Amino acid sequence: MSSDDEGREEYLFKIVIIGDSAVGKSNLLSRYARNEFNLHSKATIGVEFQTQSLDFDGKEVRAQIWDTAGQERFRAVTSAYYRGAVGALVVYDITRRTTFDSVGRWLDELKTHSDTTVARMLVGNKCDLENIRDVSVEEGKSFAEAEGLFFIETSALDSTNVRKAFEIVIGDIYNNVS
Ligand code: GDP
Ligand code: MG
Repeated sequence: MSSDDEGREEYLFKIVIIGDSAVGKSNLLSRYARNEFNLHSKATIGVEFQTQSLDFDGKEVRAQIWDTAGQERFRAVTSAYYRGAVGALVVYDITRRTTFDSVGRWLDELKTHSDTTVARMLVGNKCDLENIRDVSVEEGKSFAEAEGLFFIETSALDSTNVRKAFEIVIGDIYNNVS
């Protein structure tokens, strides 16, 4: 925590987005931060992080949200990526079960690299593709409950729950530090 020029309290929270390749991590971030979606996003192109400012009780909260920029394809997400994170979105693709099966591994990696309590949201993305769904809402929900995670299904394509996913995590972090 720090103070700005007028002496107001300010908060800066680092949040990481993790999950298998092509689950929609970069598009969730671009939808949230810039209201943009890209059908043919290149896994290797991406900014390191985007910062979003929010207001809680008149206090400025800045969420610095990190994107892997494709590192996960090579199983090479570095410890620097996780360092200092106080929130995480763990994303899978509801149309590809293998990406849901990987969630446990991502949670282990997160735990290994974090030295503090991390607010964690399990995100089932691409809920616009109901017709080819491969993981039920109930499965996502019960896994999240068992692991003590928040749970939400999103669509970066049609914007369903994207803002909500990020803001539940940010709000939880805020409530724990304020
Ligand atoms: P990342 O590798 O996890 O960063 O995934 P990307 O954000 O690059 O998305 C991978 C592919 O899935 C791209 O072709 C996106 O257009 C597509 N995609 C991402 N989110 C959604 C979504 O919510 N719905 C649908 N239908 N496609 C999506
Ligand atoms: Mg990406």
